[in-house]
Amino acid sequence: MGLQAKSMKVAVFNTKSYDRTFLTAANVGGQHDLVFFEAHLTLETSVLAAGFPAVCAFVNDCLDAKTLRAIAEKGVRLLVLRSAGFNHVDLAAARDLDLTILRVPAYSPYAVAEHAVALILSLNRKIHRAYNRVREGNFALDGLLGFDLHDKTVGIVGTGRIGEITAKILHGFGCRLLGYDVFQSPDCLALGMEYVALPELFAASDIVSLHCPLIPETYHLIGVEAIGQMKPGMMLINTSRGQLIDTKAVTKALKSGKIGYLGLDVYEQETDLFFEDLSNHVIQDDVFQRLLTFPNVLITGHQAFFTEEALTNIAETTIANIADFEQGRPCANQIDLDRVNK
Ligand code: NAD
Repeated sequence: MGLQAKSMKVAVFNTKSYDRTFLTAANVGGQHDLVFFEAHLTLETSVLAAGFPAVCAFVNDCLDAKTLRAIAEKGVRLLVLRSAGFNHVDLAAARDLDLTILRVPAYSPYAVAEHAVALILSLNRKIHRAYNRVREGNFALDGLLGFDLHDKTVGIVGTGRIGEITAKILHGFGCRLLGYDVFQSPDCLALGMEYVALPELFAASDIVSLHCPLIPETYHLIGVEAIGQMKPGMMLINTSRGQLIDTKAVTKALKSGKIGYLGLDVYEQETDLFFEDLSNHVIQDDVFQRLLTFPNVLITGHQAFFTEEALTNIAETTIANIADFEQGRPCANQIDLDRVNK
C-alpha cells in the first residue's frame, strides 16, 4: 500500500464562477488542493496566501515587488499565471525572491482572432446599432450603410499565433493582406500577405488590427504620428493590449473623422474597470466615457479570450503546470527569470 503524495495547496486569487468551474473540471481527481478566493491579489490581500506554497493569479492582479515579497515571506514558491501575458509581473523581484513563474503561453488563438473579426463585422455593418433599432420598432436603414470586406486592404500588426489566424479568416473574405512583424510568418506569406514597413501599412490599410505584444517598443504604437499616416476613415481594431494605443490621440482622430471606426477589447486604463459589474457606480474615467459616446466605437471588456475552448485550455495548462512544479519536472511554460536584466 503506497502512500498517496500530499496534494499541493494552491491559493487561487481573483476567481469568478467561470474560473472555479473550469479549474475544478481540469483538476481531475482533486490532484491539487485548490482554494478559491474572489479577492484580487494585492499587498493587502497577500495575507490570504499564508500557508500556501503556490499562488495562482490573473492579468489584473497586482504582482509588483512589494506583493511578491509579501507572498514569498509567507512561504509561496510558485506563481502560476492564468494568462499568456506577464507584463504585469515584476520579474526582477521574482528572480531575487527565487520564485518560479509558470504561465499559459498559448490558448485557443481562434478565440481572440474570431473576436477581432466580430468587432470588424459589427462595426462595419453597425450590428450594435441595428440591434437597438429593431428592438424599438425602428426599421429605417439610414446610418447603417456598410462596405464589402471583399477587396479591402487589412493591415495586421503582429503576425504571431493570433495575427496569423486573423489573416486566414480575413483572407476568406477576399481581403488584401498587409503585415508588419519583426518575423515573417510562412503561413501569412502563403496567403499572399505582403510585409511592409509600418508607415506603408498605415497608409494603405482600410482596416488595421493589432496583434503584437505590449513591450517598450510597442507602447503607444498608435499615436499622433501613426494616425497621421493612416487612410482617412479607416477602422482600427485592438484586441491585444490597451497601451498599444494612445487613447487621447485616437479620440481626437475619431472627432475629426480621420479614424472612422474603433473596435476595442482592451483599454489603457482597463484595470480600474474591466471584469467587474460597475453598472451602479459613476465611472470616473472621462477618457473612457468619451469613447462610449461615439456611434462608431464598439468596446468589449477584455472578453476576446472568453470561449469554452480557451477557458478549458487555460485551466488544463494551469493544472499541468502545477503538477510539473510539484513533481520537479522541467516545465516548458516557465518564464526564464535568468534572462531578466539584473
Ligand atoms: P504571439 O507571441 O504568438 O505573436 C505576437 C507577434 O508579435 C509575434 O509574431 C512577434 O514577432 C510580434 N512582434 C513582436 N514585437 C513586435 C513589434 N515591435 N511590432 C510588431 N510585431 C511584433 O502572441 P499571440 O498569442 O498572437 O498574442 C498576441 C497578443 O494578443 C498578446 O501579446 C496579448 O497581448 C494579446 N491577447 C489578448 C487577449 C484578449 O483576451 N484580448 C487574449 C490573449 C492574448
